[in-house]
Amino acid sequence: MNDHLHQLYREALVWDAHAGVFPSPEVDLNLLEEWHNAGASYVSLNVGFDVMDWQDTLATLAAYRRWLLDNADRFVLVNDCQDIDRARQQGKFALSFDIEGMNALNGDLNMVSVYHALGVRQMLFAYNLNNAAAGGCHDDGSGLTEFGRRVVQEMNRVGMIVDCSHVSSRTSLDIIHESSKPVAFTHSNPSSVWNHQRNISDEQIRACAATGGVIGLNGMGIFLGDNDIGVDTLLKHVRYIYDLVGAEHIGIGFDYSPKVDVDIGVILRSRPDYWPSGQQYDTRDIKHAGPEQLPELIEVMADSGFAENDIRGFLGENFRRVADSAWQGID
Ligand SMILES: [Zn+2]
Repeated sequence: MNDHLHQLYREALVWDAHAGVFPSPEVDLNLLEEWHNAGASYVSLNVGFDVMDWQDTLATLAAYRRWLLDNADRFVLVNDCQDIDRARQQGKFALSFDIEGMNALNGDLNMVSVYHALGVRQMLFAYNLNNAAAGGCHDDGSGLTEFGRRVVQEMNRVGMIVDCSHVSSRTSLDIIHESSKPVAFTHSNPSSVWNHQRNISDEQIRACAATGGVIGLNGMGIFLGDNDIGVDTLLKHVRYIYDLVGAEHIGIGFDYSPKVDVDIGVILRSRPDYWPSGQQYDTRDIKHAGPEQLPELIEVMADSGFAENDIRGFLGENFRRVADSAWQGID
């Protein structure tokens, strides 16, 4: 990479809108150093998803909060974008939490503000299968329920990013219609580049962009192509969204987990309801693009004509724009 681009990367806000670490109180959060060492400024770390009991989400949240408070010399659990700026100035790594699926609410709308108070700044509605709030992407195509509609409004009010990943097409369009703030697909790739039920259509991408929202590039090989995580494949997805809706609507949500002590394939194969057959989840040795690939990716982006401003937007400024609006909430 040339010196100029290298400097751009070093000075840029680098925002990963979703980590793919399997949430558990047992996870050693020192793994977050991998993001920081790769030059990232911020990551959204998931504390739960619909596959877990909601009590386990709270237990994970409690354990992660305690660990972050004990390691405040290196990490900052942020409330807003100003906290991210301060963390960068101090050489610390910034993060907040997200939850994948509304089973974590246990049917209680009041839980949204509880999670917000504990550091959750982003939630998605259904993890692959239908739940009380919404329809999942691997289910019958149901839309947002009445409860789900109230959850969107409550998230807008308390100040969370409304995330449309993992749900059915109809649900995502319902959420977009309901939300008074920009929304995101934090970790979803265009299905026009690689056809997969977890990927999203041109209609969904356009609807998200029309809110001022952002689509985060997912690094999981089976959502990118045939388990292919090469930078040319990553570029293909970025380029597609760029051509469809413009540079201000692309970001990063790598869904990446550093090597942890679990075999992801074993987990995926243990719940064929959430990860159905025929969707490549049974692929051996699923590959995953992570933050280490960003310098190489922005190099090929620059070579293929992306302007420096577009690259800064992709690296983090676009997601910052969405967060700045969403996290302020509504009085
Ligand atoms: Zn996910």
